[in-house]
Amino acid sequence: MFAIAARRMGYRVHTLSPDSDTPTGQVSDLEITAPYEDLDAVRMFARRVDVVTFEFENVPATTTEAVSSIVPVRPAGSVLHVTQQRIREKLFLQRAGFPVAPFRVIKAPQDLHQGVSEIGCPAILKTADSGYDGKGQVRISSPSGVDAAWKSIDECAAVLESLVDFECELSVVAARSLTGEFAHYGTLENHHRDHILDFTVAPARIPARVDARAVEITRGVLEKLEAVGVVCVEFFLRRDGELMINELAPRPHNSGHFTLDACVTSQFEQQLRAVCGLPLGSTAQFRPAAMANLLGDLWEAGKPNWPAACACPEVKLHLYGKTEPRNGRKMGHLTALSDNGSSALELALHARDALVLGVSV
Ligand code: AMP
Repeated sequence: MFAIAARRMGYRVHTLSPDSDTPTGQVSDLEITAPYEDLDAVRMFARRVDVVTFEFENVPATTTEAVSSIVPVRPAGSVLHVTQQRIREKLFLQRAGFPVAPFRVIKAPQDLHQGVSEIGCPAILKTADSGYDGKGQVRISSPSGVDAAWKSIDECAAVLESLVDFECELSVVAARSLTGEFAHYGTLENHHRDHILDFTVAPARIPARVDARAVEITRGVLEKLEAVGVVCVEFFLRRDGELMINELAPRPHNSGHFTLDACVTSQFEQQLRAVCGLPLGSTAQFRPAAMANLLGDLWEAGKPNWPAACACPEVKLHLYGKTEPRNGRKMGHLTALSDNGSSALELALHARDALVLGVSV
């Protein structure tokens, strides 16, 4: 989606990843297949472009360093370094005074025993590295579950976090330009199923005070990170009305996909503008919107019924070009526009149901 936004504005796109025929590769001028650790390939790639960005934060620091000695990397490797590891991210947020749930850094089993006795149960143990969509997470309901939890994450460095009693989950997708300009898409309402984003309603159905506070916190985070590019800040809205940051994503985010159909400037074009040193575009939203994810599970009983979902003129279908539909894998999404968020959501979910039920919408 980023490459499409870039091509639309006349840029040429080169991409490097360990895979071939990737969604990005399919719409790029050049697709290089090499591991991120292959620094010779990475340097060769960097010499042929003007600026490098990424759409996946688990790129090793040595790779971004190799690139940044040749061309700018935006956001900088330092932003990746903080956000690709939960311990660093939590400590960064806590030290800068942003609201996060009580947590402890866990490096050994005794840390976990002590952590559980200090922050109490229920708690969630999350691996420090490569966790996303609930992977590498285990819930600890009582102190007797500590040893099993430690084993289940293969005894690796982790963060122990209090379970937040939240009313809903929110996010703010925002961008910061090279000159420090800030733009955001307001607060978005996110609903997860099995720890994976299921749907987003934009704008979130929350009081204006909460929206303003979430945007203000997000602005502070982008400034503190000195990020250039799009960053998503994910929040829990507690039942007492307080916001807590759950995590950061230093790139366009799934909860911002609605911007492709609903906003003057999509989050991908915004990323392009920031990364290429252009002024940011308007984030104005034409109409309330909802986005429903299409996971590989939808293919279980055969090819989804695309015409049935497209039968609703207010619904837009996006498929990413991933060849293999696996359970839990994000294959595409639907966006619906309407007069308010609730009716947009109804349309999007109805269209998604039609994909498997085959009924016309
Ligand atoms: P994460 O990968 O950290 O974003 O976690 C995935 C999902 O697990 C979140 O979107 C929440 O639904 C849930 N979750 C994670 N951490 C907590 C927490 N401390 N309290 C309650 N729910 C959580």
